[in-house]
Amino acid sequence: MTNSWTRFECEDALPRLYHFIDEELSYHELEAMRDHLDGCDNCSYEAEVRVKLKSVIREACLEAAPTHLRDKVSARIAEMRASMAEPV
Ligand SMILES: [Zn+2]
Repeated sequence: MTNSWTRFECEDALPRLYHFIDEELSYHELEAMRDHLDGCDNCSYEAEVRVKLKSVIREACLEAAPTHLRDKVSARIAEMRASMAEPV
């Protein structure tokens, strides 16, 4: 028997949570995810946690980036300069 509509179980939904949050699923999968999350407290909680985690990480990265990144970038530039100065 074939279903005309895909129904996700938790084992289908959980590995796709990150893609769902990043909206990297096909239309069909998105609909199936929404359908599953609507009826599944466990997965909708997991999705919520990941959304929060993502925004926390993004904020942390924004705050941490300047000094961290500046050091990395300037080190890389110094490296490039050094290698460019050497005769090939
Ligand atoms: Zn579930």
